[in-house]
Amino acid sequence: MPMIIIEELCKGCAACVEVCPNKAITRAVKTAKINQELCQDCEKCVFVCPNGAITGASNKSKS
Ligand code: SF4
Ligand code: SF4
Repeated sequence: MPMIIIEELCKGCAACVEVCPNKAITRAVKTAKINQELCQDCEKCVFVCPNGAITGASNKSKS
């Protein structure tokens, strides 16, 4: 499953936007948004987020 951003935790710092190799993340007004079709589940954004706002949408078994 692609990553999702928990909007309540996201501070809109855009660190994840910079790190995504697939340009799947864009800044929204106060948060960021992940394009689920572009996300390759690499988890780089998960580690770079200072607020723990990015997480897998469900269990990580790849199909
Ligand atoms: S998991 Fe990887 S591809 Fe998906 S949004 Fe995060 S950095 Fe981009
Ligand atoms: S790195 Fe985290 S807090 Fe910063 S914009 Fe991305 S999801 Fe939001």
